[in-house]
Amino acid sequence: MSSSPKIDASSLLVTSIKGVGEKMGVAFLKLGIKNVEDLLFHFPSDYQDRTRLLKIADLEPNQEFVIRGTVEKVSQTFVPRKMLIVKLSDSTGHIYLRFFYYFPGLRNLFRTGAVMEIAGTSRLGRYGLETIHPDYELCTDLEFFPKILPKYRLTRGITNQRLRNAIAQAIQMMNNEKIEVMDYFPKNNLVNLSDSIQRIHTPLPDDDINDYLVGGRSPHRKRIGLEEIVANKISYLSIKHQNKNKPADIFSDELLANQIIKSLPFKLTQDQKLTYQEIKDDISSGSPMLRLLQGDVGSGKTIVAALIAASVVAEGKQVAILAPTTILAKQHYKNFVDWFGSDIEIELLTSKIPAKERREKLNGIANGSVKIVIGTHAVFQKDVVYESLSLVVYDEQHRFGVTQRLKLKEKAGDYPHQLLLSATPIPRTMAMSVLSGLDVSTIKSLPPNRKPIVTTLLSNKRREALINRIKKAIESGSQVYWVCPIIEESDSSLIGIEDLEKVLKNDFDNNQYDILHGKMPDKVKNQILENFKNKSTKILLATTVIEVGIDVPDANIMVIENSERFGLAQLHQLRGRVGRGDKESYCILMHEDNLSELSEKRLSVISKSNDGFLIAEEDLKLRGPGDILGLSQTGQPSFTFYDLIADEEIQSEANRITDEIMELPIEQQRKIIERWFPAHLELSDI
Ligand code: ADP
Ligand code: MG
Repeated sequence: MSSSPKIDASSLLVTSIKGVGEKMGVAFLKLGIKNVEDLLFHFPSDYQDRTRLLKIADLEPNQEFVIRGTVEKVSQTFVPRKMLIVKLSDSTGHIYLRFFYYFPGLRNLFRTGAVMEIAGTSRLGRYGLETIHPDYELCTDLEFFPKILPKYRLTRGITNQRLRNAIAQAIQMMNNEKIEVMDYFPKNNLVNLSDSIQRIHTPLPDDDINDYLVGGRSPHRKRIGLEEIVANKISYLSIKHQNKNKPADIFSDELLANQIIKSLPFKLTQDQKLTYQEIKDDISSGSPMLRLLQGDVGSGKTIVAALIAASVVAEGKQVAILAPTTILAKQHYKNFVDWFGSDIEIELLTSKIPAKERREKLNGIANGSVKIVIGTHAVFQKDVVYESLSLVVYDEQHRFGVTQRLKLKEKAGDYPHQLLLSATPIPRTMAMSVLSGLDVSTIKSLPPNRKPIVTTLLSNKRREALINRIKKAIESGSQVYWVCPIIEESDSSLIGIEDLEKVLKNDFDNNQYDILHGKMPDKVKNQILENFKNKSTKILLATTVIEVGIDVPDANIMVIENSERFGLAQLHQLRGRVGRGDKESYCILMHEDNLSELSEKRLSVISKSNDGFLIAEEDLKLRGPGDILGLSQTGQPSFTFYDLIADEEIQSEANRITDEIMELPIEQQRKIIERWFPAHLELSDI
């Protein structure tokens, strides 16, 4: 071992990069980037091919391009919104560049007569060909240098250009040996980790982009992919190892659970009974449980978790139930109070409770009078002390980082039982390798009263037909969820809620619809939901806030805008909000006019099937696994996993490395987990 003066990249804050100030640091945090290592592990989700210089006349709408041209005219508008418009032309034609968010200096950069290189995606605007927020560069050289540029997952305040600059600096620091990225793998003959990081961010012009994308064949891509797989395996195994031979409370009192079962307005399904039995066996075994209960949306996982909670409560111990959103936590709270009645003290703990009320709740939790705590990540907070926490239930488990799971565990004196609920079906082909170390129970069937949801695809061109259909449906008593991927139009072709509202204004009374998104204060959100539940509003215009959990039986129509942009698993989850009452239910997937072949295939999968597992399996085949696990929501984009299924060789390699790392001290295991599943990422409290 040499005593090297290099700094570990994970101990250097991202704000130490030139040009990354406090404010940008906060924005970076939203992407899960806190330190320079996180930055280097923020891998491209796609690439921009800038190896071929095109002429403007050759551009088609919806095409990625690089052109060079002269600035002809620069103008600004303020109505209906602030915008910078640049007319750029070459010898063959012209195109308009539009910028909605820009710093004042940008105006001066686009001087009339300046020759610029522009890269972006074209679209057909009212005045001809245009491009929104393209990359731009002043041409200082007559020669054109072909390159492949990375495209990253972004957040407000962070553009691709900013990320590229920051990452380029970090790579330079790595090359100058100022910093290093620790290689936690035991000795091997894989390619060098730092080389792989660099090459994935900056492929060479001759590289085949596909080799560097999900499932790609580049050895660099595989090196990183292998590490993600290993990190994932270790994250589960290390919990399991810590639990091994640890004593856990034994719960076998079924009296309360049986009372609840008797008072339910429905009969448990066969699968609910089976999974309940499996979980009961776990918590009466004397060692800590770590089990995943998976089942399609609406399959009734909550009641199973509640029955398990009942056994724990019956022995005077405490249960914490963790939900990914406040809305969902509230809904669980209501259900639990219904099921458990007033004898069992249940508290709701979210982050926005007044201090005094919060103190009282915390007292009750600390002295043990509160038996069931339901909340968002607020249940993790430092000042929450449990008297005797014995069971932790994580709803929609994929929303929580693995390290967060480790953290809550520390709150329990002993080793608590852990039950993870997931409506994200993990395909059979994937489960074995991804979930190593977890026990899995599956609810396969839905309760008998469900009708299949009729799903249709509709091009944006036929919006008028859609509106007519919705009008009629509302007249006959239907309610509608209308989902947009974003709030305001920020990137090109997506339809934002604000745009959609403008459309709806023309056709509906403004007391017929409401808008719901994650950035609203809780109070407002609850009022809006309440209005929708009691049917005073008919249409709920929402972001994917409504993805998890919301239960309004009379809503039987769901419209999803830009459906081609969603993962199939997510579409399936969204769709699961309807089909809960007795009415026939419909899901209408709006999509852009020119669907790619892949998008068309994917959307046809979901329109033909209501089986979450089958859909996940097909999505996996068509697209790779990232969004199936929803890991992007826990911070890092899921980068690989595909190799795992495609490539036996990688699988056995991953197992071998995992085994070796599991022999190392636990701190070392944690480091690799933290690299891939960063703990510092606060869950957004939507
Ligand atoms: P998920 O598995 O998606 O979390 P929930 O637990 O929220 O599903 O259950 C969805 C709805 O189905 C709830 O309204 C719940 O009360 C109801 N439900 C659960 N089990 C049954 C059953 N066996 N029969 C009828 N309805 C049920
Ligand atoms: Mg649920």
